[in-house]
Amino acid sequence: MRQKIVAGNWKMNKTLTEAQALTSEIANMVEDEGPADVKVVIAPPFPFIYAVENLIPEIGKIVLAGQNCHQEDSGAFTGEVSAPMLKSLGAQYVILGHSERREHFSETDADLAKKTDNALKSNLKVIFCCGEPLEIREADTQNDYVTKQLTNGLFHLSTEQFKNIVIAYEPIWAIGTGKTASSAQAQDMHKTIRQHIATKFGENVANETSILYGGSCKPDNAKELFSQPDVDGGLIGGASLKSRDFTDIIKSF
Ligand code: PGA
Repeated sequence: MRQKIVAGNWKMNKTLTEAQALTSEIANMVEDEGPADVKVVIAPPFPFIYAVENLIPEIGKIVLAGQNCHQEDSGAFTGEVSAPMLKSLGAQYVILGHSERREHFSETDADLAKKTDNALKSNLKVIFCCGEPLEIREADTQNDYVTKQLTNGLFHLSTEQFKNIVIAYEPIWAIGTGKTASSAQAQDMHKTIRQHIATKFGENVANETSILYGGSCKPDNAKELFSQPDVDGGLIGGASLKSRDFTDIIKSF
């Protein structure tokens, strides 16, 4: 059985006290109501990771993630945060290749391949994002676009390394727009992604890889999205900033 995952990407939101309050609320709700078989990942901004860690029950269902990391372990890279740093703070995952990083910070597939290597070397699991812009969807070339992102970013890995990868499919036209992909569109792409993974890493690994959907996933559409056979959870932006919405999404399986 594949691991079900709901991950909250807080992006650049919240102050310290707000981050602590949100974490405590999520922790309480998930402990009380969260399904036992769903892993919950929260990705606060870097400065808050350490500050919220002690608010999460130790043997709980919640783990922490960074929203990005640098491709080097250390050095003269002012303003950057490395994978070993995240690991030392208690993070277990890092999100890489989010479309906002690709767009606003010019991250290329080659950069993301290096970042992935570095994160895995530090024993972080990677939530690797992919997804097409609107014009690609309108031209109906999204399958080629997304599979190329995966080939370029991940296909240099060994099979053992790849087992630490979670894929997040996030069509850019659905992120923060309120316009979610239909469950059929999500399923089609997730199936394509799984078949593509199988071509390189084999059927077994492909069948064990969790593939999350992201892009305006909300309590009212999560159930339908998560009921698709190749959708193993969600990467949630806006709705992860409200504890009730986020918990309701977690309970949508
Ligand atoms: P959204 O963001 O849920 O606000 O659309 C998803 C994401 O960017 O990960």
